[in-house]
Amino acid sequence: MAAPKDYYKILEVGENADQETIKKSYRRLARKYHPDVSGKSGEDKFKEINEAYEVLSDPKKRREYDQMRVGYAHRQARSQGPGYQRVTFDDGFDGWGSIFEDLFSQVKTDPGFATTRTRTQQVPEETVTLTLEQVARGETIQLTVSEPQVCPVCRGMNANCSRCGGLGQVMEPKKFSVTIPPGVENGSTLRVGNHARLRVEVATHPRFVRQGNNLVGRLMVPVPLAAAGGEVPVKPLIGDVVMVKIPPHTNQGKIMRLRGWGLAQRGTNIKGDLLLEVTLRFPEPFTAEDDQLYQKLRENHKEVGGEIHAP
Ligand SMILES: [Zn+2]
Repeated sequence: MAAPKDYYKILEVGENADQETIKKSYRRLARKYHPDVSGKSGEDKFKEINEAYEVLSDPKKRREYDQMRVGYAHRQARSQGPGYQRVTFDDGFDGWGSIFEDLFSQVKTDPGFATTRTRTQQVPEETVTLTLEQVARGETIQLTVSEPQVCPVCRGMNANCSRCGGLGQVMEPKKFSVTIPPGVENGSTLRVGNHARLRVEVATHPRFVRQGNNLVGRLMVPVPLAAAGGEVPVKPLIGDVVMVKIPPHTNQGKIMRLRGWGLAQRGTNIKGDLLLEVTLRFPEPFTAEDDQLYQKLRENHKEVGGEIHAP
């Protein structure tokens, strides 16, 4: 994108130069580069000086020129500068707010614009639903979001451009690769590009519920194994089956805590735990021998139970 000519530089004056200074400088340069003095070689330079003086010597033209230059600098900063990446609504910077509003209103009225955004969605939001496994691993997803781009027709240089209406920018779909950090929470939002947001929702899981960074599940344990002690195979949320030790005389409701088997705490190396609540289950089927053994157990223990606790 070509920059507008710098008339101040051409006339060798500062941007705040007054009319008298501009006039003096123009006369000096015009004498120096006049074709009668410098010949053919100075002709282009002489034309340039006159062009610059014609604008800067006229207060109205100068004001328009200054505005055009500021607009160009802003567009350059937005489309190229690293500073643009940091210019976001979240930072409390709303300098471009009116520009975006203009763009969104234009997008709405011009069916030629390749976007679905409307003015009512000043900060466009997309939603992605992740499984708990994806949350545990972290996930990178591809997303297309409309972003302001330098107008491909006028390159931001034509105030009467029919494509951008002189704004110098149009909204174009742009592909983004969004890295969702492990442990992301349901309902959290991430920034996409310069102004869009990605809302993350986490689907319910058939085996685990989430409590902060911890994962909670019920662990089925056969009664004989809980009585005698042993090991049960446990399939964590992600990764291979691990053998979990069940101590002898393990009761219904006992919580087995697997440290570090939960979800990452966002932005840290800290991981939550996997909490498994023991749920006792009689093995199926009952054999005649099983019945005899349970009968024997019943005879050895005369207590009848019957206490009531609030759940
Ligand atoms: Zn344009």
